[in-house]
Amino acid sequence: MRIYSHPACLLHDPGAGHAEQPARLRSVIDALREAFPALDWHDAPCASRGQLLRVHDDGLLALVLDTPLPDGQPIPLDPDTVLGPHSAEAALRAAGAGVAAVDAVLGTGPATVFCAVRPPGHHATDTVAMGFCLFNNIAVAAAHAIERHGLARVAVVDFDVHHGNGTQAIFASDPRVMYLSSHQMPLYPDSGHADERGVGNVVNAPLAPGSGSEAFRHAWRDTLLPALDGFRPQLLLVSAGFDAHRRDPLAQIELEATDFEWLTGELLAIARRHGGGRVVSMLEGGYDLQALRECSVAHVGALAGARP
Ligand SMILES: [Zn+2]
Repeated sequence: MRIYSHPACLLHDPGAGHAEQPARLRSVIDALREAFPALDWHDAPCASRGQLLRVHDDGLLALVLDTPLPDGQPIPLDPDTVLGPHSAEAALRAAGAGVAAVDAVLGTGPATVFCAVRPPGHHATDTVAMGFCLFNNIAVAAAHAIERHGLARVAVVDFDVHHGNGTQAIFASDPRVMYLSSHQMPLYPDSGHADERGVGNVVNAPLAPGSGSEAFRHAWRDTLLPALDGFRPQLLLVSAGFDAHRRDPLAQIELEATDFEWLTGELLAIARRHGGGRVVSMLEGGYDLQALRECSVAHVGALAGARP
């Protein structure tokens, strides 16, 4: 199994005390290297402006890529989202990882790829960087699969504890992409109600704080997985946030690492049924370092069909 990552993703620094720390990615990389010595690591390329412009407007590209930072001082784009001297390259590598991963699984590469990258992406809309996210990495990947590879049915599955408002908004009127999400509600960004259905291509399963493993698995087994199966995705993309884990400081869904392993196995089974087993998974949130280690190993292990 292949992993895309890049050292530049460790340099984007939102500042001391910020939840979205470089140490998050360090934990994921170290845990994967330790658990699976045979993983095939590749440096993520930068996304091109053309690839980004499939889902973002010129203004957001200019903001993230061309904003001058006098004396290298970071600037806040909103109360959560910071642009620093290394942020532009990190954002380009994070988005480029997904593009390269899509090319790999649809070309001669392995069927499953995990992108160990940051900043995360699923809150970024076509025009706005928000919620720690600069570019919407998974949306850039989905658009690449459609525009470059001509796919007609791409699914984005999002089990991050926050709703992927950006991804949903970008594809809400595009029936070639199905967006499916479980997330805590109420919680940032306060979207993702069950009645948000797009053009029939959006499926949201909001979960109450304290839900736990049983309610989480129930939502996937009864609602989200059947919808995904019915869509018959040619390619499955995963917004893999691990902040629904019980240790996470930002949310209260109280999952265990085994829940992520279970869901990953279910997703892989659907991908094998309809899409040749092709899965591209991209790191989103997850703010407890120990939980990130456990969950990324559980998730990647299930994707690789391997045990640590
Ligand atoms: Zn999150």
